Amino acid sequence: MGSTVCGFLKQNNIIFLRFFTILVLSCIPDGTNLCSNPSFDTPTIPPHSSSSSIPSSLKTLTLDGYFSFENLKHAAKDFGNICHYLPIAVLHPKSVSDISSTIKHILYMSSVTKLTVAARGRGHSLQGQAQAYQGVVINMESLDRPSMYIENGEVPYVDVSGSELWINILHETLKYGLSPKSWTDYLHLTVGGTLSNAGISGQAFRHGPQIDNVYQLEVVTGRGEVVTCSDKENADLFYGVLGGLGQFGIITRARISLGPAEKMVKWIKVLYSEFSTFSNDQEHLISSNNSFDYIEGFVMINRTGLLNNWRSSFNPKDPIQASQFSSDGKILYCLEMVKYFNPEKIDVLNQDIEKLLSELNYIPSTLFLSEVSYVEFLDRVHLSEIKLRSKGLWEVPHPWLNLLIPKSRILDFAEGVFGNIVKDNNNGPILIYPVNKAKWNNRTSMVTPDEDIIYLVAFLSSALPGTDGLEHIMTQNQHILDFCAKAQLGAKQYLPHYHTQDEWQAHFGTQWETFVQRKSAYDPLAILAPGQRIFQKAISIT
Ligand code: FAD
Repeated sequence: MGSTVCGFLKQNNIIFLRFFTILVLSCIPDGTNLCSNPSFDTPTIPPHSSSSSIPSSLKTLTLDGYFSFENLKHAAKDFGNICHYLPIAVLHPKSVSDISSTIKHILYMSSVTKLTVAARGRGHSLQGQAQAYQGVVINMESLDRPSMYIENGEVPYVDVSGSELWINILHETLKYGLSPKSWTDYLHLTVGGTLSNAGISGQAFRHGPQIDNVYQLEVVTGRGEVVTCSDKENADLFYGVLGGLGQFGIITRARISLGPAEKMVKWIKVLYSEFSTFSNDQEHLISSNNSFDYIEGFVMINRTGLLNNWRSSFNPKDPIQASQFSSDGKILYCLEMVKYFNPEKIDVLNQDIEKLLSELNYIPSTLFLSEVSYVEFLDRVHLSEIKLRSKGLWEVPHPWLNLLIPKSRILDFAEGVFGNIVKDNNNGPILIYPVNKAKWNNRTSMVTPDEDIIYLVAFLSSALPGTDGLEHIMTQNQHILDFCAKAQLGAKQYLPHYHTQDEWQAHFGTQWETFVQRKSAYDPLAILAPGQRIFQKAISIT
C-alpha cells in the first residue's frame, strides 16, 4: 500500500496544479455561519460519498498507534464550547510516520472522499478550529515524545515535540537555568497549537510572539511529506507554518530559543482613570531601555471592590490611602508590570523599579506589589483554571474576541467601545496592551495591522449557565467588530474566525496571495485544519 501511494504522489504533480484551481475556487463559498447552532452541527456539504467504506479503509493502515471510531464526542469539543463537529475517526499516533501515512492514505483516497484532517493539540481553540466534520482528528497528545533535548551553549535552545505543553518545557528548561523568552498567559497549551497562531503575552513587546522565537521545525505537510525547515532550509514552509493556522503542515517538532531564567518576579499593578494617560505610560514602558520584563494591562468597567480582591495576593504600597481609594463609578485601567530578578540582587532591582515607576503617571494610592516565583507567575492562569473547574465554570462557552488595533486608532477604539458598547466586564477580563512590532518578524503567516506599535485587546468572556450570556456576548462582540469596520480602525482579529472567503481575503490583505500559493504548494487538496474554514477540501479529478 505504501509504495502505491508514493507512486500516486510522484505521478500527479500535474493533477495537483488542477487541484490548485479547484482549491482557490472552493474557498468557503457563502456566509453560512456553521457555528451558529451550539449543538452538534451538520454542515450542508457532505464530506464524502461513501462514508461507510472510510473506517475500513483507514483500518488497513499499518500504524504504531491506532484509530478509534467510537465515542468521539471529545474531539468535537473545544475550550470555546460553541462549535461541535463530530469526526469520523480519531487517530492516536505514536510516531510521526503514523501522521504521514494517514495523510498520504487520505490523498490516495481523494477521488472517492472529501475526508479532511485536523491536528488537535489541547483543543483550546474557540470556534472549532481543531475539529474536522466527519474527518480525521489527530490527537497530538498521544504522539510519543522523546525527552527534550536542551542545548546549553552560546545560543541555547530546546528541541521539543509539537505536542509538548509549554508548562513542561518551562519545568525542564529551568533545570538548566534557562527558559523560553516569549510566552502565552496560560501554559497548558501545545507548542503546535500556539505556533499555528502566534503566542502573544506580556513579553512580546521585547521578544516578539512565540512564532518569532523558533529556530527550526519538523512538519508533516498536506502531501504527507516529513520536512525539516528553518530560516535557512525550506524557509517558505517554515514561515508559512508559523502563524499559518495549521494550513500547511502539522508541526511534529520545534526548536525553541531559550534565555537565562531568573528565580523570582516582582509583580506590580497600578491604576489609571484616564485611558490616554494609561496608554501613554504603556507605550513609554515598551519603548524604554532596561524596562520591565512583562507589560500588560486590563480594563475594569463597573468593577467595584476589585482592589479588595487584590489584597489577598498583593500589598498596597500605602495601605491607608489604598483603602480610601474610590473609583467614583469611573472606568479604570490597570497597568500590570513584572520584573524578573535574582534574590541576591534585590537592592539593584528595587532601585530600577523605583526609577521606572517614577516616570509613570498612575493614581499614587493605587500602587500594589507582590513577589512570587518565576514559575508561579508564568503558570498563574492555571490557578484560576483549578478554581473554575471546581465550580464547573471552566467548561462553559467562551465567546472570546481578540483584536489587534493600530496605535494611531487606540484612543478611538477605547472611546467607542469601553463604557459605550461594553458597559461592564462582569463576564470576564478585558486585556489591553501594546507591543513593539519592530521586534516582530514580518515573514510569518501572522497578520497584524501595519504600524510599529499595535495593541492586543482581548475580551475573554465566559457565558455563564442558565443566562442569555452567550447570545448577549456574541451580539456585543459583533457590535465591536462593526464599530471597528465602520470607523475604519484597521483592526485585525487575532485567533481569527470568519465565515466567508471575502472576510478571509480582507483579513490577509496583501498576504492573501502568498497564503493561497503556500496552500497549493503544501496542502494542494486542502486536507488540513478544515475547522479554520479558510479553504474547502478539493475534489480530485482523475
Ligand atoms: P488546538 O486548539 O488544539 O489547535 C489550534 C489550531 O492549531 C487548530 O487549527 C489545530 O488544527 C492546529 N494545530 C494543533 N496542533 C497543531 C500542530 N502540532 N501542528 C499544526 N497545527 C496544529 N494565546 C495567546 O497567544 N496568548 C495567550 O495569552 C493565550 N492565553 C490563552 C489562555 C487560555 C485559558 C486559552 C484557552 C487559550 C489561550 N490562548 C492564548 C489561545 C491559544 O494560544 C490557542 O487557542 C492555541 O491554539 C491553543 O493551543 P492548543 O494546543 O489547545 O491548540
